[in-house]
Parts: sequence; structure tokens; C-alpha cells
Amino acid sequence: MIILKSPEDLEIMREAGRIVARVLAQLARAARPGVATGQLDALAEEIIRSAGAEPSFKGYRGFPASICTSVNEQVVHGIPGARKLSRGDVLSIDVGVFYRGFHGDAAISLPIGMVAARGRRLLEVAEESLARAVAVVRPGGYVSDIGHAVQSYVESQGFAVVRDLVGHGIGQKMHESPQVPNFGTPGNGALLRPGMTLAIEPMVNSGGHQVRTLADGWTVVTADRSLSAHFEHTVAVTETGADVLTMEA
Ligand code: MG
Repeated sequence: MIILKSPEDLEIMREAGRIVARVLAQLARAARPGVATGQLDALAEEIIRSAGAEPSFKGYRGFPASICTSVNEQVVHGIPGARKLSRGDVLSIDVGVFYRGFHGDAAISLPIGMVAARGRRLLEVAEESLARAVAVVRPGGYVSDIGHAVQSYVESQGFAVVRDLVGHGIGQKMHESPQVPNFGTPGNGALLRPGMTLAIEPMVNSGGHQVRTLADGWTVVTADRSLSAHFEHTVAVTETGADVLTMEA
């Protein structure tokens, strides 16, 4: 069942989204060569808790950290720790917060120092694919319009979309209905209606679309160990289009 949010719910979700965006902006400034991913995690938790929120991911099915940090061939769900970032890395950071009963969820990917041309292009294409996905959200459209927008653009640029992991509805639970795949043909799946809130999160690989999960039970990597990037926003369907909730004020 898809849970529609009231205007009051959406204002709380916007506050949660602002906290997420603020955390991501500060982590982007802090992420540089020699910084350990665990330091980013500690910084994120401090910002989240001082905003009166809780990290959504910490303890979720036993996840041990407040954020996910996924480097290079890691797609999503990387566990922050002692690993230090190196010049040339592609870092994906995923942040979720729980605030006054609602979740916000967003991710960015960024270069650490100078990144080779293929990696820079991957970052551009992945970010643009999220923008194109948000742009097709409108009442009367369908969930699969989102995946079609991502897949058609990403594949036209010579990259691949991950199939095994998908975006999701979000609200009082971090994962609600519907699933939001990043691939598919338009005009299928749930009808988009005002008050729906979706976490749209394309995961884009520079090689093939296949992924594997490492022995830690969390870290998802590309099967061919090619680079991967991930961008995500929490978005509300409005009367006229989409409202991105994970933005700084
Ligand atoms: Mg998500």
C-alpha cells in the first residue's frame, strides 16, 4: 500500500531532507585524500544528532554506522571505517535521517582530488540521470517513467544501470511502497499521485550492470569491479510535478 502524506507530513519531511542535505554538503567539503571514511561517519552522526535527528541507517538490520561510504567499484552500502580516501577515488555518500517521525534519504558521489576522465564522465552522467528522473515526476505519470528516464539516458551515454537494487517509497518507514526501479518501459507500475514521497536513487556503473555483495554482508560492488556512482533525492509528488525535499534551505 502506498501511503500518501499530508501537507503537514511533507513539511516535517522537508525538515528531515534539509538536515540530510546539510550533512551531505559538509561531508563533501570534508572528503579529501587522507581522510578516513570513519571520520566522515563520525562527523555525519554529530551533525545529525545536534540537529535533533537520528541516523536512519545506524542499527538498521544491524548496519554498524550512520552513513554509507562506497568507494570506486563499491556501488552502495559500504561501511565507513579505517580506509583512507586516496586521490583519484570516486566516493559515494548515502545519508538517511529520522526526524519527528519521518525519514529523509539522499546520496551524492564526488571525486577525491583529480579523477580520470571515465570517472568524471560517470559522475556527470549519474547526476544528470537523477535530474532527468526527477523531471519526469508528475501526477498522472507512472513509477516506471522514472526508471525509463534513468535507463534511456544512462545507456545512451555508454554506462549501465544497476538492476538488483532500486529506489523506494519513504516516510514514517525508510522503505515504503512502491519500489522505484532505475530501468524499465514507461507507463507501468503505480500511478503517481500528489502526496506520494519517493527516494529516487540511480546507481550507475561504468562497466556492466551486474553487482555482488561482499562477505561483510553489506558492501555491494560491481561484478566486473568497474567504477560506480550513486545519486539520490527524496522527492514528493505535487499537484504539478515534483518537489525535491532533500535540499538545503
Ligand atoms: Mg534510499
